[in-house]
Amino acid sequence: MNTERNPYRTALNFPGITARAPQTDTNGHIPPENWREIVDSGYLRLFHPPEHGGTGAGAATQIDAMHALARACSGTYWSATVSALLCGKLVSTYGDLRHHDKLLRSLLSGEKTACFAIAEPTAGSDAGTYRTTVRPDGGPSGGFVIRGEKSRITNAPTADVAVALARRERQNGDTGPEWCLAFVDLHQPGVHRYETAHMGLRGMPWGGLVLSDVPVAREDVVPVPFGELAKGMTWGWLLVSVAALATAESALTASVRHAHERVSFGRPLAHMEGVQAQLAESRAQIDAGWVLARRAADERAAGRSAQHLIGMLKVYATEMAVQVTGRAVQIHGAFGVTSGHEVERHYRDAQMNVIGAFASNRLREQITEGLGLGPAVHDTFDWLTPAGLRQHPAGLDGFSRPPAATV
Ligand SMILES: Cc1cc2nc3c(=O)[nH]c(=O)nc-3n(C[C@H](O)[C@H](O)[C@H](O)COP(=O)(O)OP(=O)(O)OC[C@H]3O[C@@H](n4cnc5c(N)ncnc54)[C@H](O)[C@@H]3O)c2cc1C
Repeated sequence: MNTERNPYRTALNFPGITARAPQTDTNGHIPPENWREIVDSGYLRLFHPPEHGGTGAGAATQIDAMHALARACSGTYWSATVSALLCGKLVSTYGDLRHHDKLLRSLLSGEKTACFAIAEPTAGSDAGTYRTTVRPDGGPSGGFVIRGEKSRITNAPTADVAVALARRERQNGDTGPEWCLAFVDLHQPGVHRYETAHMGLRGMPWGGLVLSDVPVAREDVVPVPFGELAKGMTWGWLLVSVAALATAESALTASVRHAHERVSFGRPLAHMEGVQAQLAESRAQIDAGWVLARRAADERAAGRSAQHLIGMLKVYATEMAVQVTGRAVQIHGAFGVTSGHEVERHYRDAQMNVIGAFASNRLREQITEGLGLGPAVHDTFDWLTPAGLRQHPAGLDGFSRPPAATV
């Protein structure tokens, strides 16, 4: 029974990756056959224009392809899409012609994979406290070295290149941004990687990078104003939102099938009002997610960033998928909590999406900025005059603050 509601549905699918998904999850790594299937399908090239080695597909085709791959295997989807879409967009946006010719093309051909290294052991959401630095190596070529630790990074254990966020140690007279993206070759001395075992998306390589004064060429350090980076992150939110929609769709398809097949008290589960209500709720929620996704895709196609909209989509779709997969487990009874069962995998995968690429609560803060309640980020928290609250947006400052000296 086809319960699929992806409004962009075209012919793309990944039969081999789908068939191998249980084994990819159990083994905890992506088999080489999956990469071959992805490269052969042209998936990696969809997100970029022909002059960068891409195919220049439209937004609808891109979303359909993302959804198809995420339905096939969410861990494989994350790994491939972080490299080709998220890192690819950062390289194409902030890199120069040299980066487009060499680095970007190698990501789109599948010759190399990349990771986007932002989070650190001490900070995920609170970007202002990241400690990784880039400083001049003192040599005649004007190169740099990067030092710090990035943790919980998709593709870190296997990637060839890291697009790493770091603070720049500025020299006298340098008034450029304090932050930069560094394109770091990870096959160099000074790079130590480790893997981190994880609850869902188990095929996806995930872990940390310890960078101990790793050389980075002068042209591979690109100063970027901090505020600009949220634009790049929006690709990540879109990526995760589509993963969530796909996981929810897969869980619902399995639930409908099971409800037809499983007979209890002399009738199929599908004939029971309580089960029907759960299925209907899931269908409505997934469709609502698609309405947001469609709006976001249209905005993107029209050349607008749609940052707040995609932030809302990320929060809604990821939390919705947790609910839908939870219902799927419930409908499957004890089969649903049996290791290796399809819906058990979807349930674990769904929770990963809520946290990856900015946890929901942090994103909600950004959404409230759109309501005029910003800025969400404050430098210090002062218990007496909380800086994050500041003035009432309408200028009605209703807070009576005791002077510091009286407390
Ligand atoms: C599947 C997955 C893939 C990932 N891949 C990458 C990657 O490729 N690259 C990368 O750099 N990182 C990656 N990460 C890490 C991810 O970016 C961080 O986990 C995420 O930003 C949250 O940071 P944290 O885990 O340190 O949680 P914290 O920042 O410690 O947050 C803990 C909780 O507090 C809440 N919180 C924090 N600040 C606020 C606030 N201001 N207001 C309200 N609530 C708040 C959060 O929402 C969260 O619920 C990945 C994570 C996952 C799960």
